[in-house]
Parts: sequence; C-alpha cells; structure tokens
Amino acid sequence: MSEKRELCVLAVHAHPDDEASKGAATFARYADEGLRTVVVTCTGGERGDILNPQMDPAEVEGRMTEVRRAEMAEAARILNLGAHYWLGFVDSGLPDWGKWDEGLPDDCFAKAPLEAPVERLVEILRKERPQVVVTYDEHGGYPHPDHIMVHKVSMAALDAAADPEAYAELGEPHRVAKVYYHIGFSRERLETLHSAALDAGLESPLGEWIERVKGMPQHEITTQVECAAWLEVRKRALLAHRTQVDPEGFWFQLSEEIVAKHWPYEDYELVRSDVESAIPESDLFAGLR
Ligand SMILES: [Zn+2]
Repeated sequence: MSEKRELCVLAVHAHPDDEASKGAATFARYADEGLRTVVVTCTGGERGDILNPQMDPAEVEGRMTEVRRAEMAEAARILNLGAHYWLGFVDSGLPDWGKWDEGLPDDCFAKAPLEAPVERLVEILRKERPQVVVTYDEHGGYPHPDHIMVHKVSMAALDAAADPEAYAELGEPHRVAKVYYHIGFSRERLETLHSAALDAGLESPLGEWIERVKGMPQHEITTQVECAAWLEVRKRALLAHRTQVDPEGFWFQLSEEIVAKHWPYEDYELVRSDVESAIPESDLFAGLR
C-alpha cells in the first residue's frame, strides 16, 4: 500500500470474557506481529453469576462491576491489546438456553434503543480508524440477546461511521475496509475436535454443543487464522475472568495439544470488503498489506 498507516483490527464484544473466547488467539498473534488490536466491550457484565466453584462468593459480594473491570484489565494485559473501551451498558444476565427473551431487565443493553450505543461506537471507530472490524453474526454467534444486539449496533455504527452526514461532531468519517463475523461453533470444527478427542481415548465435552449447533444457522468459513502458538495466551486470558470460568470446567477439558494438532485456527466469515483477496484467506488483513 502506498499510504503506510498502522494496521488495526477492532472487535466488538458483548461481555467481558467474550474477547477471551472469540478471536483471542488471533488478536494475541496480531499484537505480537506489531499490529494494533482494539476491543470494545458493550456491557460491564454486572449481572454475571459466579461460575467458578473455586471462588468464594463473599469475595465478590456487592462488587461484581469492579471485579469484572479488574478481570478485563488483566485479560487485556495478557492479550497485549492496543486499547480497550467500555461502551457502558448493563448486560442482560444469562437467560436459560432457548428462553432468550424471557424476563430481560428493562435497563439492559439488549433492550436499549440503538442510537446510544451506535453513537458511542461511531466515535470509537472514527478515533481508532481500524481497517478491519470483527463482530457477531445476525444470530449473535450464539443466540444471547446481548450478542444479537452487538451485531445490530456494530452494523449500524459501521454505516454511520462512514457517513459524512451522520454524527458530524464525532470526527472525520471512516469506512472500515473489511468486516468479519466470528465463527466459534462451526459444525466442522466441533465434529473434528470431538472425533480427535475420542480417537485419543479422551472424553470430549463437545457432544452437547454438536447437538446445539444442529439447530443453528451455519456460516461459510472464508478465513482461518492459524494461531496454534497463541492458544496458551488465549487460555490465560480466559482464566483471567476468574468469576466467569471454572478452571476445571467445560472450556478447559479439551486439551490444547488436540486443538493445536487438529484445528489450530480461529474461523471467520468475511461479510463485507472493499479490497480484493483470494478466498479462503489466512489473514484478516489479506488485500490490505
Ligand atoms: Zn457474551
């Protein structure tokens, strides 16, 4: 490219810990390569339960917001993020699987009018000016209402950030060159890792997820970022969210050796691009450097 500008990727996430479970190894890799990585977290996760049985609830009593902020700061440090922003909304809690819209609190992010979060995200997009943005698909990647809201807010803000007529007071318009969705639960990935674990004589935690994704729309993987060397960083970032993860739990039952050997990628779908690149891609910046 003739104009040398720092390459920057920005991800929009719903809750603190999503950045550690979706695209974390990719972000750690890009940070190591000297690229700028930015995460926007839409909610503070204040309604999160303590999901770590090794933690004493008294430790967190009445200070969930503060604790999750500290956990997020630690994850950002581990992932070596260039910047982290809070969009400042309150999460919806974790509804029961399949009962996503029942009893959502009125003040939650999922029920907020679009304008407020869109305006804040436009301001960040125009300030950071990323070439690449990663967000969730229209089903939220998985159907949590805050995740679906992330999709709506991201897509509206991407359009508005590029529009000179919109939010003129919030900085120079900026059009993001490439937009991706995370694909966390491709059937192919789950089935590959499930079989690999069983073949190795290990228990697989993925059977239940394979059943769940059967009812979920599948997206085309256009882009796989190889990140075997950063799986360990991803794990540490996830563990930094101490209240949210059980170190003995589901996410840690699948060994890194199995993942590194059989699916050493994080998967994405390219949904909008202003540049030419050959599909399948191995780099979110394909066509940009
Ligand atoms: Zn989430």
